[in-house]
Amino acid sequence: MRKKLIAANWKMYKTPDQTREFFREFLPLVSAHNRDEVVVCPPDIDLAAAVEATKSSNTAIGGQNVHWKPEGAFTGEISAAMLLALGVTHVIVGHSERRQYFCETDDTVNQRLKAALEAGLTPICCVGEVLEEREAGLTDDVLRRQCVRAFHAVSAKKAAKLVVAYEPVWAIGTGKTATPELAAEAHAVIRREAAEIFGEDFAANLRILYGGSVKPENASALMAQEEIDGALVGGASLDAKSFAAIVKY
Ligand code: PEP
Repeated sequence: MRKKLIAANWKMYKTPDQTREFFREFLPLVSAHNRDEVVVCPPDIDLAAAVEATKSSNTAIGGQNVHWKPEGAFTGEISAAMLLALGVTHVIVGHSERRQYFCETDDTVNQRLKAALEAGLTPICCVGEVLEEREAGLTDDVLRRQCVRAFHAVSAKKAAKLVVAYEPVWAIGTGKTATPELAAEAHAVIRREAAEIFGEDFAANLRILYGGSVKPENASALMAQEEIDGALVGGASLDAKSFAAIVKY
């Protein structure tokens, strides 16, 4: 049985004060909830406040990106050691907004993923097709290519903590959600590819989250799919009540 993981991606929203305010409201709403794992990934500026606010709670904190070098002249970046020093346990890599707006490539995703795994962070590695690729019937090829390149030179042993998020780009922030069946088909493609790369046992235990306009109203139908091991939630995670409702789908 794979334990589901419900993760929030706050993108570039909230100050440290707003972060503290969110957890004051959110944590009591989910305090009795231990069915699934819960992770919130705020902007770097909020990480210290988030870690402090969630101490001795059932909610973990993640970064939204990580650089592959331990330190250096890389303006605007953050290293795995820096995240760990704050008490951060998870990190998103390869989000489509990084790929779309910040020239993130399959190769840099691979380097970030390796750095996260090496440091003992749990990486949430995002893959997903754009609308043109889906319409051209290229979804499976794109997902396979992104997985092959992201997981390049990573052993199954090293990848033990890996989590994948299937995020069809056309569903992110658009209000268009993939149907549960369509998401499950894509997850099956990713799981097959993971089996090719890491072996059947690894793939059977790999958690694959769905992301793309998940809301309280559609969360339970998505989570009912055996292939879907949780959610990566953007917009609907900014409001404590809404994210708590998703956590408790
Ligand atoms: C995301 O940012 O990963 C995401 C899925 O966003 P949204 O839920 O707003 O579509």
